[in-house]
Amino acid sequence: MFNKKMLEIGYSQSTIRDLYTYALQRKAEIGEDKVFDFSIGNPSIPAPSIVNETLVKILTEEDSVKIHGYTVSAGEKNVRDSIASYLNKTYETKLDGRYIFLTCGAAASLAIVIKALITPYEEMIVFAPHFPEYRTYVEAMGGVLVPVLPDQDFLPDFIDLEKKITHKTKIVLYNSPNNPTGSFYNEDIIKKLVDILSKKEKEYDHPIYLVSDEPYRELLYKEEKYPFITNYYDNSLVCYSFSKCLSLPGERIGYIVVNPKCEDVNDIYALICGAASMLGYICAPALFQHLIPYVLGYTSNLDEYKKNQELLYRSLKEIGYEVVKPTGAFYLFVKALDEDAEKFSETAKKFELLLVPSDPFDYKGYVRIAYCVSYQQIVNSLPAFKKLYNYYK
Ligand code: PLP
Repeated sequence: MFNKKMLEIGYSQSTIRDLYTYALQRKAEIGEDKVFDFSIGNPSIPAPSIVNETLVKILTEEDSVKIHGYTVSAGEKNVRDSIASYLNKTYETKLDGRYIFLTCGAAASLAIVIKALITPYEEMIVFAPHFPEYRTYVEAMGGVLVPVLPDQDFLPDFIDLEKKITHKTKIVLYNSPNNPTGSFYNEDIIKKLVDILSKKEKEYDHPIYLVSDEPYRELLYKEEKYPFITNYYDNSLVCYSFSKCLSLPGERIGYIVVNPKCEDVNDIYALICGAASMLGYICAPALFQHLIPYVLGYTSNLDEYKKNQELLYRSLKEIGYEVVKPTGAFYLFVKALDEDAEKFSETAKKFELLLVPSDPFDYKGYVRIAYCVSYQQIVNSLPAFKKLYNYYK
């Protein structure tokens, strides 16, 4: 007997990966610069030079057996402590390295947290449109994903949120800055969210965990304070990754923060350790663990994404597209010109534009454009966007 759910996930194709594979194929056929691949959120700018310099230093100066060896499963203590003190200094938090767990990126952080907290039939609330993998992780645990609708600015519809919280709600998860809309939850939004959850925790008399998925935390285009969730809500956890802001997505390094103020915090941390162990994560990649204390606070040159965003947003608006103004991350959410976004994405292929339909994000009628590409690709793609628009008008 095969596990039906696993087969279903294994066979279900990822629209994003499929488009990406198609792009590689098409580029081989007609040339790199003729295909406008906006499918995947793979950072397009190099990691800051300190990353490679430090890696070389570690590799040449430190004991090779030690740097490549297993670490304790939660990650090296000095690394966890350095993350805690960096966050405490930067966000005025009161975190403790004892409650930080190093992971293979945000995907692993999410899979671990969800496995740790969700038991069969329990519910996890997310805000549509949302990162597709949330559903996989929750359903793998026999849990239920409950999407909340967005308001007109693609921020949470709080009336819908209140309606959807039930006695079965175990987790409320948000992602800011957001994939796929680029929207950002400022302090006011976070306070509203926290007010509702605090009220519901009292009503149902059990914790509702608020999980922040924040791989784009530093990717903000406005001078905005990032409201670090542990400062606002006790039963909170953070899933972070160095993939996007340090341009290291293939290296698989990130962390989970458990708020030291969580009810039964030692049990929660033990659940995290147990879930990671059951998932077979022996430890996060050791070399990249050793790198982290040297690069905290550094980012790639994120201004490049801002330049891309400004050009693409302005140009698509001028052509006539309806575009959600992003505050962060590196995605543009654009209304499809066909009711069926999948059909629209297929049509866009005729103009060599690879745009991800919004359906896998639990939302219909839009496409996502990942603008973590070269500025030149955006310049070159604009006539194709114009032709696509004219095709429909
Ligand atoms: N969460 C969100 C919202 C993402 O967009 C991504 C990746 O695109 C991830 C998590 C996973 O990131 P990582 O590469 O760190 O696993």
